[in-house]
Amino acid sequence: MREEDLVKASNFRDRVSTVDKEGHRKWIYAIKPSGKWYNARTIVSYLYLFIFLVIPFIKIGDHPLLMINIVESKFSIFGKMFWPHDMFIFAISMVAFIIFIVLFTIAFGRLLCGWACPQTVFMEFIFRPIEWLFEGSPTQQKKLDQGEWDANKILRKSGKHIVFFLISFLIANAFLSYIIGIDKLLLIISEPISEHTVLLTSLIIFSLLFYVVFAFVRDIVCTTICPYGRLQSVMIDKDTMQIAYDYKRGEPRHKIKKAEVRTEGDCIDCMKCVVVCPTGIDIRNGNQMECVACTACIDACNEVMDAVNLPKGLIRYASENELESGKKLTFNTRMKAYTVVLSILVLIIGFLVFSRDDVDVFISKVKGQLYQENPDGTLSNLYDVKIFNKTKRDATIKLVPENYANASIQGIGTDQLVVKGEQMIDYKLFIKIPKDQIISRSNNLRLGIYLDDKKIRTLDTKFLGPFK
Ligand code: SF4
Ligand code: SF4
Repeated sequence: MREEDLVKASNFRDRVSTVDKEGHRKWIYAIKPSGKWYNARTIVSYLYLFIFLVIPFIKIGDHPLLMINIVESKFSIFGKMFWPHDMFIFAISMVAFIIFIVLFTIAFGRLLCGWACPQTVFMEFIFRPIEWLFEGSPTQQKKLDQGEWDANKILRKSGKHIVFFLISFLIANAFLSYIIGIDKLLLIISEPISEHTVLLTSLIIFSLLFYVVFAFVRDIVCTTICPYGRLQSVMIDKDTMQIAYDYKRGEPRHKIKKAEVRTEGDCIDCMKCVVVCPTGIDIRNGNQMECVACTACIDACNEVMDAVNLPKGLIRYASENELESGKKLTFNTRMKAYTVVLSILVLIIGFLVFSRDDVDVFISKVKGQLYQENPDGTLSNLYDVKIFNKTKRDATIKLVPENYANASIQGIGTDQLVVKGEQMIDYKLFIKIPKDQIISRSNNLRLGIYLDDKKIRTLDTKFLGPFK
């Protein structure tokens, strides 16, 4: 490596790529990438955006495919309603999700950042193209930024920022539809604004937040704010797949000269991989926290390699061990094993979601109450019953004592166990059992739970009798 490259290579960790020596922000004017990987990412990203915008309109049965209403503690996943008492499923899902992220990162590095992170997808495939439309290529943008505030600059800048804000407002609405559901959002839109001032204020705040992030903060989200990028250094190892520069093949880098017999490495030091980088780093310095695995440098370098008749892949998806040994990165046993574990986790969550009942019944003895002796020769215990109906339709619930002959149930206040859709009822009932069947102080009582005359599960509780 040349001396100046050695200095650069040893200095690159002194500060974040987007900050200069004085600590000022260095605005990134990334050149638009082009090539196989960018095309693939464009398809994936527009598909991703389409799915993101369409999901709130999809319903399974009466419920949204996905709704996370934190404010009212109501959640719908794959059309199944979840309530706060289903939190164990969320807790398990969260643990599974964290394990998923860790295992995925160990095997595939920051693949998710480049291909699925909303920040990257929105920035690179919505906001950046709008910027190119209003302000031209990165070189023209730089010129515009440095120029006087004339009519042309005012027009271009204001046009861009107005569109940025409108898109941010649309994104905020899309996110809101995931929280309150599309029906409620459409209802709100159709009603006078004065009736929804709180909601409208939060919408404006979130729109402003998105606008500031995509118009000004940009790469700082990935390089400084996002914890995932910072954590990756403790999750990856020498076998992790990442976007890497093949230093063995590329070094010593050397400018290409006509009619010169090349004895150096394949890197012609054209800096194309650096000028396309949206976080402004030089991948030739090795794996860096700022890299969002966007593949732009792969495309840029491949184009250069093509032009100078050298093999493509100087920058590519590779592991550190692959670069060291020269052995090609394959879908190895470790990746296969991790993929199996990840699939099992997804199946567990899927099972928890789909095997969950539409109705939950909880029964417990009323505290401080023992038993009552009745004139008809029975003993009765008082119970507290909570029934959650997670469907939208009314549910008729029946409780049937199963392990005592002639046992009966008597409700207090109501004998009708009809629970309205998406409601919970809490009420008390007596269970009466003929005295001669109660053989001890504490007796097991099994109750069959029927929903619309169909048995859905069995509950066990205790029935208290006198000391014998
Ligand atoms: S180093 Fe390459 S992959 Fe990483 S952010 Fe920059 S351009 Fe994207
Ligand atoms: S694009 Fe390729 S050849 Fe050009 S500087 Fe980067 S690694 Fe070297």
